[in-house]
Amino acid sequence: MKKLSVLFISFVMAVTLSACSTAPASSETAYKAGTYTGSAQGMNGEVVVEVEVSDDAILSVKITDEKETDGISDPAIETLPAEIVEYQSLGLDTITGCTVTSTAILEAAAKALESAGADLASLQKPVEKIAGETIEKTADVIVVGGGGAGISAAATVASEGKTVILIEKTAALGGNTLASGGVWNAVNAELDALTPSDEGRLSTLRTYLEYDENLFVGEFKNTYSTLKQQINDYLSGDTSTLFDSVEFHLIQSYLGGLREDLDGNTIYGSYDLLNTLVTNSDATISWLKETAGSEFNNTLSEPIGSLWLRSQTPKTSKQVDFFDKPAAYVEKNGGEIIYQTTADELYVENGRIVGVHAVKNDGTEVILHANNGVILATGGFAGNTEMVMKYDNYWGDDLYASIGSTNVSSTVGEGIIMAQKAADADVTGMEFTQLMPIGFASNGRLALGNGTNVMYVTPEGKRFVDEYAERDVISKAAFANGGEQGLFYEIGLKSNVALWQDEDCYEASSIEELAKLINMDPAVLTAEVEKYNGYADAGLDADFGKTVFTTKIETSGDDVYVARAMKPSLHHTMGGLVIDTLCHVYNQSGEVIPGLYAAGEVTGGIHAGNRLGGNAIADIYTFGHIAGQSAANAN
Ligand SMILES: Cc1cc2nc3c(=O)[nH]c(=O)nc-3n(C[C@H](O)[C@H](O)[C@H](O)COP(=O)(O)OP(=O)(O)OC[C@H]3O[C@@H](n4cnc5c(N)ncnc54)[C@H](O)[C@@H]3O)c2cc1C
Repeated sequence: MKKLSVLFISFVMAVTLSACSTAPASSETAYKAGTYTGSAQGMNGEVVVEVEVSDDAILSVKITDEKETDGISDPAIETLPAEIVEYQSLGLDTITGCTVTSTAILEAAAKALESAGADLASLQKPVEKIAGETIEKTADVIVVGGGGAGISAAATVASEGKTVILIEKTAALGGNTLASGGVWNAVNAELDALTPSDEGRLSTLRTYLEYDENLFVGEFKNTYSTLKQQINDYLSGDTSTLFDSVEFHLIQSYLGGLREDLDGNTIYGSYDLLNTLVTNSDATISWLKETAGSEFNNTLSEPIGSLWLRSQTPKTSKQVDFFDKPAAYVEKNGGEIIYQTTADELYVENGRIVGVHAVKNDGTEVILHANNGVILATGGFAGNTEMVMKYDNYWGDDLYASIGSTNVSSTVGEGIIMAQKAADADVTGMEFTQLMPIGFASNGRLALGNGTNVMYVTPEGKRFVDEYAERDVISKAAFANGGEQGLFYEIGLKSNVALWQDEDCYEASSIEELAKLINMDPAVLTAEVEKYNGYADAGLDADFGKTVFTTKIETSGDDVYVARAMKPSLHHTMGGLVIDTLCHVYNQSGEVIPGLYAAGEVTGGIHAGNRLGGNAIADIYTFGHIAGQSAANAN
């Protein structure tokens, strides 16, 4: 997040507008010459804009303060101030993928120009768009969607010596991957050996010896036997450093996804897909390091609902290690990335997918031919509440039309719909959407946190769940015990808070004061915190079975207590296109659709009823890599 970013874009007024694909909305506006400031609410706070005008023209637009999310908001910040000057207009489209930031910039500029005496109605007339000439191109592989799965696939195709074109709907690569916490589950023995274990972890491992064997179906049965043997061997030897294994990751992912829908039908992840994920995840990190030069930290982390300490994280940033480096690799090796281009149809010839029809944001038609195949990497549909509610058979009445979403606005399920329309593609698990329990109550955005160092309480101050449980377990408990729409409060220490949003966050130097700020009975909250701290000392929670506690809720030094208001919000759509371990997409007759591949959240069958935190980034890069290999080497 940027603390202060000053972006100054001054355009020479003699812009030759005939060279542009748009025309100015207003050319005769009068202003009181001078410099004016306006501000409006963005994604993470106020966006402040300074506008300089002469008597008859907008001379410059500067963003003088903003706290928007790096990467995601960049296209709006980099583009809109320049366009306001270039077109002498506020009637510009918001930038797809950063709508909130775009709207804030336009609103702030409007306030500044209003102070300058501008005729806002005239300035806000929509800029007329003029489509360019149709673009037609051919590559071995066309990738649709520039999130993690798409860039992984494109870099792989390039590394296989084949040509690739990636189209992305928004003005930048990233999608939900860039918005994510960036944590990537991958079992790595070297990192485990550097990581100390503790009594809570050992207690957790012992619980994995006690599962009813009947819970495990097919090949998961053998995996569970192997895991029990591994845990017993570990517990009878040196337990000073962290235990982990691909079998443990596999069993946790299986159990995490083993769920029943509202009609009592059971769902669980495909053994083959999950096994492919857990056995290739760390190797995919190595591939990304070697091929693109991406770097990763040497420590492990664990996001909420990950159930174990096995997440690796990018060293410089998600922007650099997940996107800039692989994108540079793609372009250096002859690949092309086309932005602001939305795929809306797959071309089919004799039952084979042979290309993509798309439209640029100025209306220009784009026709792309694929020699080998098309990879769909358009992400999930948790940005589309209507679609989630249409398929839902897990949350029932707990879902509501105005529920928040942690997602970027461009992930609305278009890849699934295109594949269904073009080739009768089959889908699986669509009824299951993961709700993120720690969405900020006011807007549903991900509040970030891992459940190990906080307690969750109802609006009355009573603890109600194991904060280290799976996300759906916490969300269900919030709906059952919390306030309206599952409202609850996370209580913890300011030093552990990664994201702060004024509307939802409160701080105080004592638990009593904190309770008063959020209208709770101080005696109730104090008693709950004391009980929780006792459980943390013991490493075991007698109420809800929590075993992993990284800190107690007890301040020291300058630290203060914090309460954050939360409501479950739409986060990850578990369902999607049916694929196999080579990322071929299947039709409803159970046949491979020739020429069509898919990877990432657009697919289903892996996470089943509930996904472990950190498993999606592992999934999208791993299967993106596999899809790239399959499509590059297809005949
Ligand atoms: C806030 C947040 C935090 C998260 N944190 C984590 C985490 O730390 N660890 C983890 O494992 N998982 C996390 N997840 C889940 C994970 O980020 C996603 O599941 C994953 O990023 C999806 O990757 P993807 O490549 O499939 O899709 P995305 O990254 O969403 O990319 C899809 C891209 O396709 C583009 N697109 C869509 N339709 C079209 C079209 N018709 N034409 C052209 N382009 C199109 C979109 O604009 C987008 O850029 C998080 C999710 C969110 C929302």
